[in-house]
Amino acid sequence: MRLILLGPPGAGKGTQAARLVESYGIVQLSTGDMLRAAVAAGTELGKKAKVIMDAGNLVPDELVIGLIDERMDAPDAKKGFILDGFPRTLAQAQALDALLDKKGLKLDAVIELVVDQNALLQRVESRIKQTLAAGGKVRADDNPESLKTRLEAYREQTAPVSQYYAGKGELRQVDGMAAIDDVSRQITAALAA
Ligand code: AMP
Repeated sequence: MRLILLGPPGAGKGTQAARLVESYGIVQLSTGDMLRAAVAAGTELGKKAKVIMDAGNLVPDELVIGLIDERMDAPDAKKGFILDGFPRTLAQAQALDALLDKKGLKLDAVIELVVDQNALLQRVESRIKQTLAAGGKVRADDNPESLKTRLEAYREQTAPVSQYYAGKGELRQVDGMAAIDDVSRQITAALAA
């Protein structure tokens, strides 16, 4: 099973991906996680990415394409994978097509979590406040300013990606505002369709 999960920040892609990992025994390939690991390790790539990520902007296409290319070849990805947070631009979607071709692989589905972005912004902001009030830690880009930039980047650069897959007849949309279990059920149904 090879999937793409599309949806703006805070739509619940990570939560749903974790459930799919359990159900299908596949791995979650999150470019955001890979980049945060590079930042934490202090690599050259991490240093380059940190400033861009903290502000909520997208890192250059070639950086994430290289990460995904390498990661898809790892033994644990042989059974399948869920791409979470990639592709985020049309150029990345086209590069992914070329990568899959090169590796002789095919996607099974592209699932989009459709959400109301205003409601989402409020939901994420209140979650951040609660976490901070409870003494917890949030991501460097989990602040109202970066969050707005991340949503803008999604609208401008990632929304065309769902159009791209819709044009190819591969896009399946689910209601991402529903309760978590309900969203999972919708995804299972979309995968069975
Ligand atoms: P995420 O965890 O998916 O929300 O990603 C966090 C941040 O990492 C994003 O705001 C971007 O700065 C960067 N990032 C993650 N994936 C990509 C991608 N596919 N293309 C460009 N930037 C990305």
